[in-house]
Amino acid sequence: RLGRFLWRGSVLTAPFQQQWRRQCSYNHFVDAAQPISPPPVAHEKPFTLAVKDNIATAGLPTQCASRILSAHPSPFEATIVKQLRARGASVVGKTNMDEFGMGSHSVNSAHGPVRNPLSDDLSAGGSSGGSAVAVRLGDADLALGTDTGGSIRLPAAYTGIVGYKPSYGMLSRFGVVPYANSLDTVGLLAKKVQPIRSLIFDTGLSKENDINDPTSLSLSTRERCEQAMPASLLDCSRITVGIPQEYNIAELDPIIRESWEVAISRLEEQGVRVVPVSLPSTKEALCAYYVLAPAEASSNLAKYDGVRYGVRNEGPDAVGETLYTETRGAGFGEEVKRRILLGTYSLSSEAIDNYFIQAQKVRRLVQRDFDRVFKLENPLYEPVQFDLSDMAETTGLEDKQGPVQVDFILCPTAPTFPPKLSEVKNQSSVDTYMNDVFTVPASLAGLPAVSVPSKTSGKELPSGLQLIGQYWDDKRLLAMAEKLE
Ligand code: GLN
Repeated sequence: RLGRFLWRGSVLTAPFQQQWRRQCSYNHFVDAAQPISPPPVAHEKPFTLAVKDNIATAGLPTQCASRILSAHPSPFEATIVKQLRARGASVVGKTNMDEFGMGSHSVNSAHGPVRNPLSDDLSAGGSSGGSAVAVRLGDADLALGTDTGGSIRLPAAYTGIVGYKPSYGMLSRFGVVPYANSLDTVGLLAKKVQPIRSLIFDTGLSKENDINDPTSLSLSTRERCEQAMPASLLDCSRITVGIPQEYNIAELDPIIRESWEVAISRLEEQGVRVVPVSLPSTKEALCAYYVLAPAEASSNLAKYDGVRYGVRNEGPDAVGETLYTETRGAGFGEEVKRRILLGTYSLSSEAIDNYFIQAQKVRRLVQRDFDRVFKLENPLYEPVQFDLSDMAETTGLEDKQGPVQVDFILCPTAPTFPPKLSEVKNQSSVDTYMNDVFTVPASLAGLPAVSVPSKTSGKELPSGLQLIGQYWDDKRLLAMAEKLE
């Protein structure tokens, strides 16, 4: 009876009715309301591609560096891999990572840690460390990674390459094993910005919607966002770059601070106007992220129970309820278990108000901070007039919230150079979370961000500078990033 009730459509809103029809029919009617994505434009020349192991590939296992998925062949291929194959990609292999994307040094892996080729015993960053190293070594021209809170940008910075996290919802996540859905993005790593820019924008990739991914922006919204953005970078003299004051923290390595200053001078030499800006909620962003991401992860990872998914632990005790505990206890690594516990706690009835709900509010403040400093409106929202009087009282930032508004924000990708793997081993998990302090805010706001290698004098190790843009301003962001190379 419930089926008939639904079928009559009385409780389904129009878009759900459409989706329902698509799922239930044999696809024998053409849905005129659903525009067709334009055909992909072939890339100039074929290229090699490494794929992070949480992205499904036909013919290769997809294991997320987890014991629990050690016997998992994916029955289908992720949309992004199909899209890149159609543009000339040949997949050279799956890359090592932190289990399910949880980590910053690619050490939380069933395959053991990824090593940075630049020096012995050095972190390659995480969680897309394997993808970064594949590009760095020239094993692949481009690599696919995922970035939930910095997992493309951090390894790019630590290995001296370029890592790009697109606007949330631009590239399809269908076939990407979810970590924290409201933050997860798929992006690219390469030695230079240009191949990424050309792949995304010259081959029509940014224009393709994927009906299999409910968070993939619809074609009409893409169109609207596109129209709200300036078409090209124009000349540098009309560009303003903001330097967020809150990112100049005491823990910032002095050499990285210096390379930040060098980049500012180089931009100014090219005619760019550089101004200080304030993003007051930055300080709370990291805490909010580490409440929200584990909460979503704890829900996503519930399906790995040995029944629906995952290698079942067949021990003598593994029956009934203990099947779950045995399977999950043996299948997940330490960090993943920690996140599941953290997430389950913050979603529990006694903690949800103080943790999860508060973190959602902080997330909104972080988004508001960015919208306030960018010249362009966020095309997803109606323009909002911010009443800043209440904030001025608490932050004392009245005079920093003047009329100057910026096109991009420039800051370091990470506060330090890549640490030694032996140091990472002795770090507490909270120390490790600190590495993400500069990458997490853009993730919470769903904004595009790119890390490019920075120029450091007298230091052999690599570091990165991060450029952040307004939502859907990806094309100009990458063009601007080329000016930092
Ligand atoms: N280091 C962060 C975390 O562990 C980010 C991971 C990611 O972006 N996948 O959650």
